[in-house]
Amino acid sequence: MAAPKVAVVGAGVVGLSTALCIVEACPGCSVAVLSDQFSPNTTSDVAAGMLIPHTYPGTAIHVQKQWFKETFTYLFAISNSAEASESGIHLVSGWQIFKNTPKEESPFWSDVVLGFRPMSKAELQKFPQHQFGQAFTTLKCDCPPYLLWLEKRLKAAGVQMYTRKVSDLWELHSEYNIVVNCAGIGAHHLVGDEKLLPIRGQVVEVHAPWVKNFIRDGDGSTYIYPGIHRVTLGGTREKENWSLSPDPDTTKDIFDRCCSLEPSLQGAQAVKVKVGLRPSRQSVRLNREVLRQGGVKLLVVHNYGHGAGGFSVHRGTAKEAARLVGECIAALQGSSSRAKL
Ligand code: FAD
Repeated sequence: MAAPKVAVVGAGVVGLSTALCIVEACPGCSVAVLSDQFSPNTTSDVAAGMLIPHTYPGTAIHVQKQWFKETFTYLFAISNSAEASESGIHLVSGWQIFKNTPKEESPFWSDVVLGFRPMSKAELQKFPQHQFGQAFTTLKCDCPPYLLWLEKRLKAAGVQMYTRKVSDLWELHSEYNIVVNCAGIGAHHLVGDEKLLPIRGQVVEVHAPWVKNFIRDGDGSTYIYPGIHRVTLGGTREKENWSLSPDPDTTKDIFDRCCSLEPSLQGAQAVKVKVGLRPSRQSVRLNREVLRQGGVKLLVVHNYGHGAGGFSVHRGTAKEAARLVGECIAALQGSSSRAKL
């Protein structure tokens, strides 16, 4: 058969990294990315991009750990290469702090990040309202540069990028052999997934170059994440709120909460307020599906629903999606050789 044609729907961190993994794993196929929005207008552009996993209750922990480890290893190698600055990937050290000691003092990902340890009494003096903390070094993606870096690699590999809204996966049937759904929260309407709901998040980017360490309140409600040029202050988690408009009262509340953890931020200048909709689901939808209309089949691979942790696991889930695309190609080649007999 001719080179299989694969359409990846979505150009957030999941769509772009999935397209890249398909190119790497299936060099004989032709890949296109179709998306109604590209960077800087995706949810992925809003994210803080910290590699601290969110837990998916519907997915086995060893699978989540594998996704995180693959992502960490991939980005760590980039951070150690000449590409680090352009791709926006860098190491960052800091503290995750708790008002009460958590049940699990070491999370499942503690041996993937670097130098994980309980905070010392002396370190905890910085946070008088907290009684327990964990110190570690992890990676952070400055998200828009990382998305542009992924796009650049895809273009260099011959992947075509089309601005296009897809209303129904079947509209791609005549042009592509396999469709990969990486539409993020857009999958709610695209495939009618009612288990996929938005969790609205607002963040404030400030100019505070003196802040070098990350600080994260253990429940993830308040965080200070230093990037290459700006510090991201967060956050909010508003279930089933579809609004993309920044709320000034929320901005003030975020700022006040962050100043209570890092008083020096009082002098920081706000640069930008961003809002995004986390594509939240009990588990990432990562599977093959054969859609049928009459006697016609459409091979689909889904990879969406990464909620609050898309950056932390994107490479691991992209590799698995590419493996599933490989299975679809094998199935297509099998049916085309049977047809010739
Ligand atoms: P998106 O980035 O939303 O991409 C979806 C793409 O699909 C877009 O290009 C869109 O235009 C396209 N699309 C949708 N529907 C259609 C359609 N019908 N036709 C064509 N194209 C379509 N994660 C972390 O790991 N660490 C963090 O520190 C972190 N911080 C966050 C902070 C905030 C405030 C928010 C909101 C999220 C944060 N996240 C974080 C989560 C992370 O942003 C998401 O998990 C991740 O961006 C999801 O990526 P995605 O590619 O699936 O979705």
